Amino acid sequence: MLDALAHVGRDPATGGYVRDAWSDADLELRGWFAGESARRGLDLNEDRNGNLWAWWGDPSGEPGVVAGSHLDSVRQGGAYDGPLGVVSAFAALDLLRERGFRPGRPVGVACFTDEEGARFGVPCVGSRLLTGVLAPERALGLTDDRGDTLADVLTRAGRDPRGLGPDPETLATVGAFVELHVEQGRALAALDRPVGAGLSIWPHGRWRFDLRGRADHAGTTRLTDRDDPMLLLARLVLSARSAAARHEALATVGKVLVTPNNANAIPGHVAAWLDARGPTEESVRALVRDLYDQLTDDTPPGTTGERIESPSGEIPGAGEIPPGWGVNPSGGGGFPGESASSRANMTFPEGGGVPSGGGADPSGSGGFRGGSASFPGGGEAPAGGGANLSGGGEGSPGRGGRRAVEVREESWTPLVEFERGLRERVARAAGEVPVLATGAGHDAGILAAAGVPAAMLFVRNPTGVSHAPEEHAEEADCRAGVIALADVLEELCR
Ligand SMILES: [Zn+2]
Repeated sequence: MLDALAHVGRDPATGGYVRDAWSDADLELRGWFAGESARRGLDLNEDRNGNLWAWWGDPSGEPGVVAGSHLDSVRQGGAYDGPLGVVSAFAALDLLRERGFRPGRPVGVACFTDEEGARFGVPCVGSRLLTGVLAPERALGLTDDRGDTLADVLTRAGRDPRGLGPDPETLATVGAFVELHVEQGRALAALDRPVGAGLSIWPHGRWRFDLRGRADHAGTTRLTDRDDPMLLLARLVLSARSAAARHEALATVGKVLVTPNNANAIPGHVAAWLDARGPTEESVRALVRDLYDQLTDDTPPGTTGERIESPSGEIPGAGEIPPGWGVNPSGGGGFPGESASSRANMTFPEGGGVPSGGGADPSGSGGFRGGSASFPGGGEAPAGGGANLSGGGEGSPGRGGRRAVEVREESWTPLVEFERGLRERVARAAGEVPVLATGAGHDAGILAAAGVPAAMLFVRNPTGVSHAPEEHAEEADCRAGVIALADVLEELCR
């Protein structure tokens, strides 16, 4: 079935997929979903938020067990993220029928609308609207790159935008939701297992760092006279890496705006966005707090010409901070960038050397692609009004007002733990599969947060690459995923 979708929204130049919500490609995929539903004699229903439901049995009397995922993609995404879950849901249903299984409750296949947020910048629009997490007024006002609002786009697609909003009736039909998804990491590959179950979705957030200095001439301003916020950015990127390692979390600086952004000018201002995720809320909060402290505890080397003392007494875990970060280990006060050798000697706590594809490389970070590119307002769960980390919003005035660091939380999504009973039942029914936490958000997480019993199954991704054309799963693993999903549905429908 995946083959039938292989051409839809595919960029022949890159092999990547562009399947924006409500685009022609998306409408074609919706048509495919309707066709698959009809072929199986299922009852098709599109709810008022554009989510698709194909039912075997009538869920109005008794809530059903639903499998599915999404069909949209990030821009230049892979073939598996989303469609694998929908295709596997149909295939699992076929398998149940082949087995002659008669479900004790209705079984559904779902396709959630606009999971990736590639077009409007807000992920999981369909499930967030359904559960009431996203206000319809806000959703309707979202605009795409061309300036079209979601309301315009829905109208053009023949939908009534006035229908958008919380839909408790549809939600009540979902007794349990199981989302099968290609793994977006290499945990299963490392365990040599084709299928895993979801434990939790890591808490995650986005923070905006405003780094201020003084714009000046690149050729006439002596090093000692400079107030260059780009050095703070360098420090931010490197310390994000080491802080993430220290807290066993993930941190990415994937988007940077430099002002004035001239090759021959010292910048006056740099805005950088940090995406941080970790196993616990405390680990993520501590990571961001560390970063802020590291940026504000000392005058950045190189900006004032002062000799910089070691900050090791002040920074938690400073022993693990890579030599060369901010403080020249040789005791010379210069920024490491001033000396090629100190730069080359930089090492990271995990011993991996200078990170390849680290947040500093915009071409490799993916931060400028589709959904990641715009996030004012986030689209994640409201972040408590985007409070400044420092509480009062004063940031760091720096010494003599020469620099300022301000951090603002733009979004925050708390930890989602899949219901333990269901999770254990799913893992057992799928064949005692390993249970994994993930750093990626999913519709299953939105439903779980809304109180719907939800679980996830992951299918091995040999390279771990996702949101890119190289995303892959072996056919045998996909088949193992279908069997596991069918076993899980059978278990939950008893
Ligand atoms: Zn996905």
